[in-house]
Amino acid sequence: MNHPSWAERDRRALWHPCTPTRDLDDLPPIPIRSARGVWLEAYDGRRYLDAISSWWVNLFGHAHPVINAAIRDQLERLEHVMLAGFTHEPVIRLSERLAALTGLGHSYYASDGSAAVEIALKMSFHYWRNRGEHRRTRYICLANSYHGETLGALSVSDVGLYRQVYEPLLLQPLVAPSPDAYVRADGESAADVARRQMSVLEHLLEQHAGEVCAVIVEPLVQCAGGMRMHDPLYLRLLRAACDRHRVHLIADEIAVGFGRTGTMFACEQAGIRPDLLLLGKGLTGGYLPLSVCLVSDEIYNAFDSEHGSPAAFLHSHSYTGNALACAAANATLDLFESGDVLARNRELAAHLARATAPLADHAHVAEIRQTGMILAIEMARDGKTRTPYPAAERRGRRVYRYALEQGALLRPLGDVIYFMPPYVIEPDEIDQLARIAADGIAQATTD
Ligand code: PMP
Repeated sequence: MNHPSWAERDRRALWHPCTPTRDLDDLPPIPIRSARGVWLEAYDGRRYLDAISSWWVNLFGHAHPVINAAIRDQLERLEHVMLAGFTHEPVIRLSERLAALTGLGHSYYASDGSAAVEIALKMSFHYWRNRGEHRRTRYICLANSYHGETLGALSVSDVGLYRQVYEPLLLQPLVAPSPDAYVRADGESAADVARRQMSVLEHLLEQHAGEVCAVIVEPLVQCAGGMRMHDPLYLRLLRAACDRHRVHLIADEIAVGFGRTGTMFACEQAGIRPDLLLLGKGLTGGYLPLSVCLVSDEIYNAFDSEHGSPAAFLHSHSYTGNALACAAANATLDLFESGDVLARNRELAAHLARATAPLADHAHVAEIRQTGMILAIEMARDGKTRTPYPAAERRGRRVYRYALEQGALLRPLGDVIYFMPPYVIEPDEIDQLARIAADGIAQATTD
């Protein structure tokens, strides 16, 4: 009798994220045996170039010797201890380093990004309560935003299908228009869009004076929303507006932090500091789930409290500050310190731009946009007028399938094909990706 394959056993026992079950019929998950650098290797020996860093988590490639060694070393000493009543060296060192990098003095840990978003929402609300401002119960988020899919995080996300079903369960945020430069009017610059959309947000803040806890934003790139990008000016204006109206600014850099946009953190490009900063994904180099909500001293100090006081922030998760994850994060920061990662990224980003430039003239490409090590190609039925394809045609999925056949993991967001590769990718591998994307787009747009 034949043994069932990994794919068959998977189909019986697993339920995959972000995958309607019928999609498994023609594209079952690919069982991966091992990975090294930018390459994934399947059990059948096929190799895939990981152009999306395994959902944007991987910074320095798979199986990096420095991170591997740090986790192994930590494993011999302490794998985990609860963080209530106890602490340990990796978490203290990591917190000190994050404070030095961000200027925000206290780290509150969780595991996945969404959990950090939940913490930020609760913390901001709780801060205002501790200050006696009980009317502040609302949040402002941006159109086309994505902050995760737990109920709080989903509440402040504007992601049609993902949100629709759960609508009756969700908080009702105020939704401000996105500063997305793709939808600029004729003759308008990205900075003009930023100014125009900020005036609407400012109006919301005026209308709801004293009711808003925080504005939550994905600085520079709305990633899950189709890699839509905006001018840093928006963040500068937002910081000023939040100050004027005494509202927290929550910067969700879970996807864009750690060098992805060209600076260590995206907020640096606007010269601003948020009140709460969320990091995750690349924090451990893509090894282990760890996320963090970094807060200003002003916020931390508002929670000074005694036993039994409702002023204390009692939120807890079992794996908060896991020692192995913190060791991976410290090793990741070591890699940033041991080489000029941002300078190499600038060269790679320029190479990405050059390699994909010929696609700009394609009849079904509406825009190629880039922020640092994120490059996105927006396919459209009519590239000139930016008329999209009907979503049901799933053109992006055709590119996904084609790329897999050619040995590349490109997982488009709708009809947006993007590259968000690990920083250890080589220029010739970028060329390979650009070729596959160009051929995939040609195939997907011919009918
Ligand atoms: N915020 C942003 C900006 C994200 O891109 C994501 C994940 N794509 C999240 C939050 C949620 O993180 P996680 O999937 O780790 O819960």
